[in-house]
Amino acid sequence: MAQNRFKRGSGCFNCRVCGRLTRDTGNDNGNVGLCPECLELSGQQNEHSDRRHQGNFDQCQECQSQLSGKAKKHLADHSDLFN
Ligand SMILES: [Zn+2]
Ligand SMILES: [Zn+2]
Repeated sequence: MAQNRFKRGSGCFNCRVCGRLTRDTGNDNGNVGLCPECLELSGQQNEHSDRRHQGNFDQCQECQSQLSGKAKKHLADHSDLFN
């Protein structure tokens, strides 16, 4: 039974947006293959286009105000991936 110690989807994987090694934190990020920050950012990026905010997502004050500190830092580090 040792092989089944980790339940499906709870292992480590590389985020398909930023490529870093991450793990399933139980908020569905594993199902979509994203690290928690990229998951948050892609959700906010959808908001940005759905609500027709002005300008680029990575520069958007309205979106920045919605994001957690970690997601904001991730966006600053990977702004080329989210614009
Ligand atoms: Zn990521
Ligand atoms: Zn926005």
